[in-house]
Amino acid sequence: MQISKSKALFEKAQNYIPGGVNSPVRAFRAVGGNPIFIEKADGAHIYDADGNSYLELINSWGPMILGHNHPMIKEAVIKAMENGTSFGAPTAREVEIAELITKMVPSVEKVRMVNSGTEATMSAIRVARGFTGRDKFIKMEGHYHGHGDSFLIAAGSGAITMGNPDSPGVTKGTAKDTLLAPYNDLEAIEQLISANKGEIAALILEPVPGNMGLVTPKPGYLEGLRKICDREGIVLIFDEVMTGFRLAKGGAQELFEVTPDMTTLGKIIGGGMPVGAYGGKKEIMEFVSPAGPVYQAGTLSGNPIAMAAGLTMLQYLDTHDEVYAQLNTIGDKLVSGIQASLNKLDLNYTINHLGSMYSLFFTDKEVFDFASAKHADTGLFGKYFQAMLHRGIYLAPSQFESLFLSTALTDDYISQILNANETSLKEILSL
Ligand code: PMP
Repeated sequence: MQISKSKALFEKAQNYIPGGVNSPVRAFRAVGGNPIFIEKADGAHIYDADGNSYLELINSWGPMILGHNHPMIKEAVIKAMENGTSFGAPTAREVEIAELITKMVPSVEKVRMVNSGTEATMSAIRVARGFTGRDKFIKMEGHYHGHGDSFLIAAGSGAITMGNPDSPGVTKGTAKDTLLAPYNDLEAIEQLISANKGEIAALILEPVPGNMGLVTPKPGYLEGLRKICDREGIVLIFDEVMTGFRLAKGGAQELFEVTPDMTTLGKIIGGGMPVGAYGGKKEIMEFVSPAGPVYQAGTLSGNPIAMAAGLTMLQYLDTHDEVYAQLNTIGDKLVSGIQASLNKLDLNYTINHLGSMYSLFFTDKEVFDFASAKHADTGLFGKYFQAMLHRGIYLAPSQFESLFLSTALTDDYISQILNANETSLKEILSL
């Protein structure tokens, strides 16, 4: 595979951009080698600057649920552009998308648009603090909620990948209000609560975490959190930036039938444009300015182009239930094929899978929280990543990320991925 243009671009980029990239995981530090610079994407494929094509299993980290460059989204964006790119004033489309989100996501009665997942979670915590009059909140080890100061403590995603889950620049004063618990452990939550009685504003988690690789909730876990939060007057926040509109129309909360008090969203609601949102119960959201005293604002929030892309995407998902059946079938075919290869090669690696998200962990132990995810052999993952890339399959460049499938993956493409998977495993393990 020839990547001379990507190499030249990365070399030049390092002169002007920290580490040569605008978001750390993109630098391929965890997997070695030169990052590929993308020129375009269409359907199930992305194309790099040297003209190589790859089948996509990241899909812009989630939002491209229908594949890249979908004609319907493109048309909506172009049409919106004809009327101007930003007004900093309310539009009809914002009302329409807010109404649709409240219809689709069980916990959301009112919603505020922002520009990223990071903004959504930072704002949700501020509102929960304003609503309860309490300062502390609980976060799970290995979960990632963007790069807001109070979340960069035992954070997942790029923070684990870069080996700095606790970032310099976060003050001790900020860090002391973030309480940490292992995922899938209700007893640990009870202990934190009894040690901080009446002081905890919120409990935030990815209901199905994808930022330490994909991990699924144990039966009863989410229900248990709901009961504890009700009992203690703690605002339960599901961060569904990855899972919202992907695991089901109404996200993980619909799938597991557990309704949080607040929800943070991102990615898919922008149809690939930079959008996030937070919403929840009316009485909580009424605390947000200008309805209430908790300040939160954004010059470009509800941007007309982003709203056009997002609204088109959500309207489509709302009226096409078959998308979820299709995504689940694609996920099942791919994961059962990978499992069959593992069995054939006598390998016991762990695959965690739910719907159109999965992770292959290079460990034979069960992965159910951050500590168990760290058993994975990241060196071996790096070799697997490179072997797959050379066979035209684009995976997330870290063991600690979920993969995201799209409806653009046909049976032929799935076969290509499965062939590449088996050959890559044989190659890296010299089988
Ligand atoms: N929450 C979750 C669960 C995420 O996965 C991410 C990003 N991957 C974020 C928040 C932050 O979103 P953004 O990168 O748009 O700021």
